[in-house]
Amino acid sequence: MTHDTERQFEELGLIEPLLRAVRTEGYSEPTPIQRDAIPHVLAGRDLVGLAQTGTGKTAAFALPILQLLDGAPPRKGRPPIRVLVLTPTRELASQIGESFATYGRHLDLRHTVVFGGVGQRAQESALRSRIDILVATPGRLLDLIGQRILALSEIEIFVLDEADRMLDMGFIHDVRRLIALLPARRQTLFFSATMPPEAQKLADDLLDEPAMVAVIPVATTVDSVLQSVYFAEKPQKRDLLAHVLRDASITRALVFTRTKHGADRVARHLTRAGVSAEAIHGNKSQNARERALAGFKRGATRVLVATDLAARGIDIDGISHVINFELPNVPETYVHRIGRTARAGAAGTALSFCEEEERPYLVDIERLIRMHLTVVTEHPHRSEIAPPQPTDLAPRRGRAAPAAQSPRPGGTAVSAPRPRSGRRRRWWPRRGSA
Ligand code: AMP
Repeated sequence: MTHDTERQFEELGLIEPLLRAVRTEGYSEPTPIQRDAIPHVLAGRDLVGLAQTGTGKTAAFALPILQLLDGAPPRKGRPPIRVLVLTPTRELASQIGESFATYGRHLDLRHTVVFGGVGQRAQESALRSRIDILVATPGRLLDLIGQRILALSEIEIFVLDEADRMLDMGFIHDVRRLIALLPARRQTLFFSATMPPEAQKLADDLLDEPAMVAVIPVATTVDSVLQSVYFAEKPQKRDLLAHVLRDASITRALVFTRTKHGADRVARHLTRAGVSAEAIHGNKSQNARERALAGFKRGATRVLVATDLAARGIDIDGISHVINFELPNVPETYVHRIGRTARAGAAGTALSFCEEEERPYLVDIERLIRMHLTVVTEHPHRSEIAPPQPTDLAPRRGRAAPAAQSPRPGGTAVSAPRPRSGRRRRWWPRRGSA
């Protein structure tokens, strides 16, 4: 890290022990959400952060929270839990816990993580010692409060993470019950990738004159990913996958299937073909999921096969390739999937397998991202499917073009750029640029 970049984190007002931790992580500069959010949080303001996982949002709240706690000793008496981070999934909870450990390594602050699906004992005993920061999923937290194992009456800072997903997953009642237990005087940080009306309502209820920070919309982030499509019929896809994986540059691949059984079948097929692969999905036990994830993170497993739900919130660095074994029928899901590669500025590659019936999904995806995927024709399982044409990318009648894009001149038919091979773009703008 150069002197200059270190200064960038310093200019945000972060203290030395945090700067040291950031330096150890090798972060060269704050991401936009960090640059915009950290000063507000340090100033004690409520905040709405419109940002998805992958933008560096965890550090955007974890760094200033650690600093605020470090700067103000807890009140007298039994040390209370001072910060609550509420997040929808176990995986996210674990990752946020790890982030607090990483960024707080030079400070004397303690955190723990509680989530359901595993025994309660270990979590209970962790809560018996001093805990400053609690990261939790809603259900288990309510259980623990119901059993009087902990209370939220002394919370100073409350973070609601991935609010839109929380609502999607049906946690609204749990979340509202928890909010009712928080002290009225507190700082609240609200993070969400999108702001549907229900999330907006929750934000309005929760926040007091919040600062607003937003990072670039999802449809533009895919720019840094090299994307291509392989046309093949359904029965050929498994062999195609094994064929594609002969490429040794695919060091760590996340493969998406639509169903749990599909994930199992693909993982089995790969294992038989001599490729180390594991499947994760909701039918697996928490232990099995954690084992599979750990093997993948370590590099012992080269391919992780997942459903969209199981992959939610998983944040693994260094995914070289995202492979869409099946195309999602919701085009935004495609963007979320391929965002798993090209994390935090690294380049990534996304390959998609498309069968005849999936062609309309491909058209929708290309329309959303406003470009054609590169068609790979050199493979042994090719099927004669016509790639979408430039005219297919024109917005459908009655359906607005994606709001994130600037209008293009020259009428309705958009001549979309082909992906620029070799040129990899950062997904966040440089300081001072648009
Ligand atoms: P998040 O959006 O919090 O899930 O973060 C996504 C990834 O970005 C994590 O793997 C972080 O370690 C990484 N990250 C966070 N801040 C930075 C930064 N300033 N520079 C580079 N990588 C970062």
